[in-house]
Amino acid sequence: MGLNKSKNLSSAKKTADEWFSKYVRLRDADVNGMCKCITCDTVKHWKEMDAGHFQSRRYMSTRYHAQNCHAQCQKCNQYGAGEQYKHGKEIDLRYGEGTAEFLTTLSRSLYKTNKTEIMETAKEYKLQAEYIAEKKGIKI
Ligand SMILES: [Zn+2]
Repeated sequence: MGLNKSKNLSSAKKTADEWFSKYVRLRDADVNGMCKCITCDTVKHWKEMDAGHFQSRRYMSTRYHAQNCHAQCQKCNQYGAGEQYKHGKEIDLRYGEGTAEFLTTLSRSLYKTNKTEIMETAKEYKLQAEYIAEKKGIKI
């Protein structure tokens, strides 16, 4: 997917979503490309996992926040209402007590964005995803 092809805000978001999702799943993968679900014990290849948001993607101020999103199995992400409570508990364990509350507050704050900024986000996560993949020896 070309980074220069985004003509409007919604296609910019789509590009950023795709790279952010890859970044999250590669970050959470081991050197064999396997990820453990943030909210259950399922372990699957990163390409078979979702990038599950703690606070919904509809909140732009946390949509691309790295601590708000983790590799999650499709069952938990899609059929278990995202297992939000468990996700929040795990976030506090990983990043410190109060992080889930911080993200919840941040998600509700007003945030005006634009296409240029979203494309910068896409580029940044593309670089990070490629760097992590190379470092772990994972083919993307
Ligand atoms: Zn799961």
